[in-house]
Amino acid sequence: MNSVSEIFNNAKTEGRKFLLEPEAKTICKMYNIPVTDFKVAKNEDEVVKFSREIGFPVVLKIVSPDVIHKSDVGGVIIDLKSEEAVRKAYRQIIENVKKYKPKAKITGILVQEMAPPSTEVIVGSIKDPQFGPALMFGLGGIFVEVLKDVTFRIAPITEDDAREMITEVKAYPLLKGYRNMPPADIDAIIKIILNTSKLVMEHQEIKELDFNPIMVYEKGAKTVDARIILE
Ligand code: ADP
Ligand code: MG
Repeated sequence: MNSVSEIFNNAKTEGRKFLLEPEAKTICKMYNIPVTDFKVAKNEDEVVKFSREIGFPVVLKIVSPDVIHKSDVGGVIIDLKSEEAVRKAYRQIIENVKKYKPKAKITGILVQEMAPPSTEVIVGSIKDPQFGPALMFGLGGIFVEVLKDVTFRIAPITEDDAREMITEVKAYPLLKGYRNMPPADIDAIIKIILNTSKLVMEHQEIKELDFNPIMVYEKGAKTVDARIILE
């Protein structure tokens, strides 16, 4: 699949209003939004093969149109360091998903690069019925979920807007470096917000999108999970 509309059409043909993680990440790549390296495996041996190609440690995730919140059903196992661990995790995920929904359609198992833990941020977009797509930024985890420490702008935005979004959240000092935490690559986050702005402006069929979490490093950033919901 090599264009955004092809991916959207494929989802629609299958009666889906949301993209599977590999589809959403393929679109991210088209817009220069960095993601963890990934491959979709169809069976256990392929999982092992792809894990070797990507390099340990890896993460395995369920790919299923019947599972939206993957970790809620035991569909995500991270930090797998060996072939043995990967084989075991593969069987565990299939078992967990079958337990959750015996008739769940399993498209495959996503094998991906394990992103080292770091400061987590979220970039999202929702569509305002009046103003069109808006962009959201915040720090991950409790900052978004508990403190609602997020900021919004109507798309499209400029580089200055993106920088402002980052500096105006209350948790911003954490990005500048804190105790033993090195400073985060703010320019890498700005690029992601700008590219997300471009994506939602060029594809108005996107109703909602979230890149959560994005791991931010001293140099660079990587989207670990991507969700795109269509109108
Ligand atoms: P869910 O559908 O439940 O949101 P995620 O893909 O976000 O599933 O995975 C759940 C959590 O597992 C993430 O929030 C992140 O903490 C961790 N995780 C997922 N993928 C990776 C990865 N490639 N590298 C490191 N951690 C990951
Ligand atoms: Mg997630």
